[in-house]
Amino acid sequence: MIDSTRRGIVTAGIAGVALASTTGIASAAAKPKAGHYVFAPPAVISLPVVGETAAFPVRRIYCVGRNYAAHVRELNNNAEEPPFFFQKQRDMIVQNGGKVRYPELTSDFQYETELVVAMKSGAMDISAEQANQHIYGYAVGFDMTRRDRQADMKKMQKPWEIGKSFEDAAPCSAITSVAKTGYLSKGQIKLVVNDKTRQDSDLGDMIWNVAQIIAELSKQVEITAGDLIYTGTPEGVGPVVRGDRMVGTIDGLQTLIVEIV
Ligand code: MN
Repeated sequence: MIDSTRRGIVTAGIAGVALASTTGIASAAAKPKAGHYVFAPPAVISLPVVGETAAFPVRRIYCVGRNYAAHVRELNNNAEEPPFFFQKQRDMIVQNGGKVRYPELTSDFQYETELVVAMKSGAMDISAEQANQHIYGYAVGFDMTRRDRQADMKKMQKPWEIGKSFEDAAPCSAITSVAKTGYLSKGQIKLVVNDKTRQDSDLGDMIWNVAQIIAELSKQVEITAGDLIYTGTPEGVGPVVRGDRMVGTIDGLQTLIVEIV
């Protein structure tokens, strides 16, 4: 038994060498040394956690499109569709109190204030009944948007990436753990820009609740610890300009404040 196993390994090894020598792979690729990179790897992106010294390391950022009926109507979309998703990159996060650089390629830079769900675990095909147990906590986020570029892409039936995914596109507050908040299904969500209220709604007005969003997203991708989900914005979206100060609040969570520069 042992002999035949060893023989198997030896045979595979010879075959591997023969393949490598004919294709040139053996000379091209040295075995990487653990901890050695051709340049410094990017830093871990994280968010603070309210009341903790340990931070929440961010993996992926997902965002839900069209999840409050009044906002769906204000952009002339159809509220009957199932939730759909797009992504931002974790290094697009702006920490609370930070500055958001007004981006290139737009003259209609808009805010969307959203509940952010922070995941501590996950899977594929999570049921709505099981979804909440994967939640670590919640934060306030701004899904910053180049509305003019998004509109162009919609017209051309092309992806929204240019409208949604760019430097500083994902400001986010510190995370408050579910142990402190309980599972959120209602509560005021509000945005004030330069002391004027721009958005004022309730989490209870979501078309798809958080558990349904997690279940739907996990049909397409494996949700894992560190994932953030921006759950869509209520009505009242609009533009900001350089010098504006945005203050986003959701009942029970840390207030998110950023300045546009
Ligand atoms: Mn959004």
